[in-house]
Amino acid sequence: MKVCKFGGTSLANAEQIKKVCQIILNDETRKLIVVSAPGKRYKEDTKVTDLLILFGTKQIEQGRAEDKLQRVIDRYAEIADELQLPSTCIERITTDLKVLLQWDGEDKDAFLDMVKAAGEDNCAKLVTEYLFKLGAKATYINPKDAGLLVSGQFGNAQVLPEAYERLAELREKDGLLVFPGFFGYTPEGELVTFSRGGSDVTGSILAAAVKAEQYENFTDVDSVYAVNPNLVPNPCEIKEITYREMRELSYAGFSVFHEEALIPAFRAGIPVCIKNTNNPTAPGTKIVEKRTQTSQIVAGIASDSGFCSIYVSKYLMNKEIGFGRKLLQILEDENISYEHSPSGIDDITVILRQHQLDAKKEVRIINRIKNELNVDDIHVVYNMALVMMVGEGMRQSVGVTARAANALAEAGINIEMINQGSSEVNLMFGVKAVDADHAVIALYQEFYNKEEVPVGIC
Ligand code: ASP
Repeated sequence: MKVCKFGGTSLANAEQIKKVCQIILNDETRKLIVVSAPGKRYKEDTKVTDLLILFGTKQIEQGRAEDKLQRVIDRYAEIADELQLPSTCIERITTDLKVLLQWDGEDKDAFLDMVKAAGEDNCAKLVTEYLFKLGAKATYINPKDAGLLVSGQFGNAQVLPEAYERLAELREKDGLLVFPGFFGYTPEGELVTFSRGGSDVTGSILAAAVKAEQYENFTDVDSVYAVNPNLVPNPCEIKEITYREMRELSYAGFSVFHEEALIPAFRAGIPVCIKNTNNPTAPGTKIVEKRTQTSQIVAGIASDSGFCSIYVSKYLMNKEIGFGRKLLQILEDENISYEHSPSGIDDITVILRQHQLDAKKEVRIINRIKNELNVDDIHVVYNMALVMMVGEGMRQSVGVTARAANALAEAGINIEMINQGSSEVNLMFGVKAVDADHAVIALYQEFYNKEEVPVGIC
């Protein structure tokens, strides 16, 4: 039994939905289907989830927002019409969406999650209806009835361990099961969404719960590329990558697979395959425990911006018991999470996602660090990017850091920070955000475009 997840572009219009249903019907092991909400039909288009957010926000701020909701209804109506579905289908979707106009104005976050989830939920109903029309025995599955239990932080749900046992029962059900991605329910029955792109997470949880033979994640590219194809033309396609490598690359900006989606599949040992709805016979990218090709050093190169660093220095910091704990406690008191903390003997840098810091918080944090920890120097640097080279092969290879640093130097890029996790699967460079793209290109050229170097997973 395979679990298949189809992303927004795969469901953006009737033509795409026809392809999706053909893919499902071509392989009888594709039994549990997870769908996103209809995505962009063309570059400038708006995803249904974003239309829903526009509606929800206007409804919260100004009361009635029928005009915004109508845009969502129109998207579904167009699809239903082109698929020649019975009129009852769009009537049901319209009624379901219009219920959102009756919101009592109470809990805004809960309301927004309900609004966002409507994209996936109605898409699942629509796909079920079309499969049924094609003669398949297809059933829409409600995540509440199925037991997709999650924790209660709106917009950032985490699956609860007890969900797996409940969801495992889906194995026993007959026919095709169509499951809306992106949301679950707390044990108290409240709807909560995962973070954006979270249908990948739903698919992974379901694959783990039903012990699927494979989790197929259908998107709009033939494979994951070793570098962002917008930066490098025709980059190397990744045929096989380990969970750990993919996790690091997703973290660092590879948007093809949600960063939180790997863990459930990984823990249950379910192989994941990223495939293209528009070219389903292409082999795609396999995410596995161990690569069969082990000679490659670097699996991929990525970068993500929006980071800031807090540089703290104090003579003899290394001898001061509890310094690091006290520093991080100050951040915890401000409800801030940190990403990395490379350190020297007399200094430490704490790297954060900068959206967590505002001017007032910054002043409070700096004052507390100065006053409570008596530091010699502290300053905050904004607009940093992290450039990551990822590859299990780096562990055994001598000179990778030297080559990378040299490539950056030759490109005239100043390295502000270097960090290598203890697993040695990633090598991270902090650079100014304006240099990030250049840095990625320089590293790619060094590790993929030099013929004498046996790297890359092409
Ligand atoms: N529709 C949601 C989003 O746009 C979730 C998803 O597509 O996975 O974030």
